[in-house]
Amino acid sequence: MQNDPTIRRYESAGGTIVYKLPVEAFPKHFTNCYLIMTDPITLLDAGSGQENSNASMQDCFRRLGDEFDERVQVFDVGRLILTHGHIDHFGGANFVVEQSGAELGIHELDVSVIQSFKERLILNTKNLHLFLDRAGVSTSTVEKMLNMNKWSKDLFHPAHVDFTFDEGPLPGTPFEIFHTPGHCPGQVCIRLDDILFTADHVLQRITPNQSPEFITRYTGLGHYMESLQKVRSVPGITLGLGGHEGDMTELHRRIDETLAFHETRLDKTLALCDRPKSIKEVSLELFGERQDYHVLLAFLETGAHMEYLYERGRIGVTNIEEVELEYNPVLLFQRQ
Ligand SMILES: [Zn+2]
Ligand SMILES: [Zn+2]
Repeated sequence: MQNDPTIRRYESAGGTIVYKLPVEAFPKHFTNCYLIMTDPITLLDAGSGQENSNASMQDCFRRLGDEFDERVQVFDVGRLILTHGHIDHFGGANFVVEQSGAELGIHELDVSVIQSFKERLILNTKNLHLFLDRAGVSTSTVEKMLNMNKWSKDLFHPAHVDFTFDEGPLPGTPFEIFHTPGHCPGQVCIRLDDILFTADHVLQRITPNQSPEFITRYTGLGHYMESLQKVRSVPGITLGLGGHEGDMTELHRRIDETLAFHETRLDKTLALCDRPKSIKEVSLELFGERQDYHVLLAFLETGAHMEYLYERGRIGVTNIEEVELEYNPVLLFQRQ
């Protein structure tokens, strides 16, 4: 990921001023929050909520005054909209709401991440356990992965959500919501005139990590690719502003590149399923040996692509007799 730590100013076709606040949510991991000068003032996303992240956000507000002569503070925010339920975007919600009393909103499919954070994480980790066993990952590695998945368990205190949304114009605001599930169940893109805030759905350089829907409903590559097509058909967008990295002046091109990237990865995955293989085996051939958290990301990415192929009848399970007899054996897949 290529961070862009510069504060930037934009003006939408309708004359609304927008500032990009690059908040260092985790060391060397910047999340772009956007301050939108509506009435009341809107903030999109809040960083991770860790001490350094909150300090980084306050520093962004200070720099707004120095660099753009815009005298706004965190306590001036009246509305906080979260683009999706990932900790580097929502973790700072408590901080922003405590400082400002802002109304907090998120897509209805990610409400429980905010209101029942621990519960969602524990259930998600349980499904991940089933997935990793089925993928052929060794017991000791599974243990490590499960702990990695739960690392943020005590990082966030549940917060009260004031409003939710699904799709269409957000009442009382100039925003239009597009639900774009895939990267996260409640992922949204938000339109303001000719600007589309794409959050983690479309990014300037990287393709957001995919995870099988087996683990979390409304994720999965099928939903993700449909959501790319959906955003591609939104007319009149001249600027895409992502949740990380730099701006996208040619959003269509970036969407096409992202789609092509996954088509190529699907072809590679299919080619690797030339004989019965577990998700772990295919993952090692696709990504090689990875370290730490990247091992888990590789299994999830591979699992998402194999799930997509299986659901569309392009690969099948070759050890179905064993699957019938045992509780949760390793699944072996092969091209049909
Ligand atoms: Zn995300
Ligand atoms: Zn993100």
